[in-house]
Amino acid sequence: MPASRLYPIFAELAGRRVLVAGGGQVAERKVAALLEAGADVHVGAPAFSRNLGLWADQGRICLISGEFEPSWLDGAWLVIAATSDSAVNAAVAAAAARERIWCNVVDDAQRSSFQVPAVIDRSPLVVAVSTGGAAPVLARLVREQIERLLDPSLGALAALADRWRARIRGRLADLGRRRRFLEKVLQGRVAEFVRRGQIAIAESALEQELAAAEKSTAQGSVVLVGAGPGDAGLLTLRGLRALNEADVILHDRLVSREVLALARRDAELIEVAKEAGTHHTTQAGIHALLLEHARAGRRVVRLKGGDPFVFGRGGEELEFLQQHGIAFEVVPGITAALACAAYSGIPLTHRDHAQSVRLVTAHCRESLDTLDWQALAAERQTLVFYMGVAGLERIRAHLLAHGRAGATPVALVENGSRTEQRVVLGALDELPQLAAQHAVKSPALLIVGEVAALGGCLHWFGAAPLGPVLPAPLARAA
Ligand code: SAH
Repeated sequence: MPASRLYPIFAELAGRRVLVAGGGQVAERKVAALLEAGADVHVGAPAFSRNLGLWADQGRICLISGEFEPSWLDGAWLVIAATSDSAVNAAVAAAAARERIWCNVVDDAQRSSFQVPAVIDRSPLVVAVSTGGAAPVLARLVREQIERLLDPSLGALAALADRWRARIRGRLADLGRRRRFLEKVLQGRVAEFVRRGQIAIAESALEQELAAAEKSTAQGSVVLVGAGPGDAGLLTLRGLRALNEADVILHDRLVSREVLALARRDAELIEVAKEAGTHHTTQAGIHALLLEHARAGRRVVRLKGGDPFVFGRGGEELEFLQQHGIAFEVVPGITAALACAAYSGIPLTHRDHAQSVRLVTAHCRESLDTLDWQALAAERQTLVFYMGVAGLERIRAHLLAHGRAGATPVALVENGSRTEQRVVLGALDELPQLAAQHAVKSPALLIVGEVAALGGCLHWFGAAPLGPVLPAPLARAA
């Protein structure tokens, strides 16, 4: 089994020669499917089933009698080896490979250079399912599930869209507008009429919608979406819908590949990395991009790691959009503090140890030094520092200077919720050494407070925590 995955294609076989080697039931089934695709089918075998003989008499296929010879392949675009003799099938596959003709050996993925998928047929809509020969039964089960999902009228709907394609293209020249129009039509009342078999009514409804779409001057919009910390399972359903409807997606570097993979295939993906220190120029650049795409009538998704309103500058972007009259929506995301806490088994609040939690940004020296350290050093609370890897020494110094105990548990969570997550546990007074010793890198989050020690026993995700073994936190006397 090749390690790489198969490249799916749909082949146009009308009028093209296809050789089927074999004359039995299996060959017959393959021939029937090829005839439906309009192929010029040649069947080679020493003997033929009754149906194959019949089809040859009707002039629908061509028979070649005898033992396999490589010359059978002459002029063929595809070959299917469907004999009951594996040596013959192997010879057919070898000859096809020499001629560079795609060959499928029935039930033999190893010898095949292409696979025939299980198919859900709503022609012209066709859904193909394949496991690359790894588990044909699974492919069939999936096909059955999809069969139930797809209404039989979808074929008629696809045919209707095809009949109107040129007209729609002529009247809605802009690709984005056309796409939005079709999305509406294919899910709205036009589809409903088709489902009821009322094709003529569906066509007039389509004409009405098209006239309305021509007149409307569509205004674009921006959805500010929180992508969560990495694990795509933590994206909200609403966020997923926005990704599916987007024409353009402007995303940060923090957004994981898994989340981006959920975006609509033909959405334009633009990475807008913001380097530390050059925030201002690039933030203006991001504003300009948002404006440009929204003004062109596109649906823009501004996708940010975690939550857009937690250290994400989402507020600034919305203020800008509002000043320019662009409509917007906000979809929250799971912020790094919540995700890192959950995925490292560190409850941010706990009846025995912490009654409040603070999210703090520590991205530069000046912002660190101006924090209210007196309040931050208070007991019975949990602190979560974002962007803190470079500032650990100062965080420790400030907290110790304001009375927080050196033995206070801390946790560093790197790449929280991702498969490469690492958690380092330790005590506040050794914080910078811990980070250096384990080479903690960005993106990482710092959690300070008694609850951090619980990560030693409640961890459940990924690798076990690193760092010295901490004593379990003492429960408060009842
Ligand atoms: N809006 C984001 C935060 C952006 S600031 C949110 O709500 O999560 C960037 C900082 O977030 C990083 O420097 C890091 O401290 C933290 N962060 C984001 N994703 C993280 C992850 N998967 N693991 C650990 N920290 C993360």
